[in-house]
Amino acid sequence: MSIISKDIQKAVHLLTNDDVVAIPTETVYGLAGNIFSETAITRIFSTKKRPFFNPLIVHISSIDALQNIVTHVPEKAKLLATAFWPGSMTLVLKKHATIPDLITAGKDTVAVRIPNHPLTLQLLEQLTFPLAAPSANPFGSISPTTAIHVEQYFKNDIKMVLDGGSCSKGIESTIIGFENDEPIIYRLGALALEEIEAVIGKVVIKNKKEQNLDAPGMLARHYAPKTQTFLVDDVVHETKKHLGKKIGVLVFHQSKCDDFCIEVVLSDKASLQEAAANLYSAMHHLDHQNLDVIIAERFPEKGLGISINDRLQRATVAL
Ligand code: AMP
Ligand code: MG
Repeated sequence: MSIISKDIQKAVHLLTNDDVVAIPTETVYGLAGNIFSETAITRIFSTKKRPFFNPLIVHISSIDALQNIVTHVPEKAKLLATAFWPGSMTLVLKKHATIPDLITAGKDTVAVRIPNHPLTLQLLEQLTFPLAAPSANPFGSISPTTAIHVEQYFKNDIKMVLDGGSCSKGIESTIIGFENDEPIIYRLGALALEEIEAVIGKVVIKNKKEQNLDAPGMLARHYAPKTQTFLVDDVVHETKKHLGKKIGVLVFHQSKCDDFCIEVVLSDKASLQEAAANLYSAMHHLDHQNLDVIIAERFPEKGLGISINDRLQRATVAL
């Protein structure tokens, strides 16, 4: 029997009884549990085979609820929350004493956001506790952007995926931390840097080495297909090196190869937003075609293109 369901009451029941449920958000599907239930949180880590040093994002349904999660909200965090919540931005702030160490990997900060998905907002409003929800995929693999992706990963491990359709943004949230009340981007994501800077001015991005320390989920290899994958500027040139193999190609907007490979064009109209929304579905699709190699095209380094390149880099062997 399928674990996919639209029954919010069933999700409320499971979550209230220390179980986990996969939930839709606008970024990717999450594997959710009550932040105060050690049983549920432990189950999230064991289902994903996620190491305990990797903290979870707490999901709430209103800015008012923030005061129960964190002790201090810097001015620029208030501006960001007002501008972008509900939305694909996560803030890392000083944690309230009541937030379990299991959620924060022992850190004195906690990651929190209001997701922008009507079903999950309804679900959160009916619960008496916030939800911790990392992406609903085995640790290190491609993130899920449909209920079917989650079912393919976890049909034997969890009881329910709340079906909210395809994720409209399609890549993870942008994570912003604070040092001396000044914002620093820990992880690039579905909210573009330009949009953030339009609200609070210039923002620093942590360099890759430092990111690994501050956002422990930022491992060099992550979001990865099982098929060997390369990230290149010139797709056509790269395909010539793999003649005779079964090749998959992932390109932004312009078809690059005709009959000798399986190709996915992420956005015919060259929209970075559309390409981001289609990215993981395309990676899931190509990864199921029994290919020898996937060749992905590097995106323009602007707007969401920067976030897409970040994910592709972690999914691939850079040349
Ligand atoms: P996921 O939900 O799977 O996309 O992963 C959550 C991400 O949030 C991970 O990459 C974590 O490193 C990051 N994160 C969660 N809590 C914190 C925190 N307290 N400080 C820094 N990064 C965090
Ligand atoms: Mg993840």
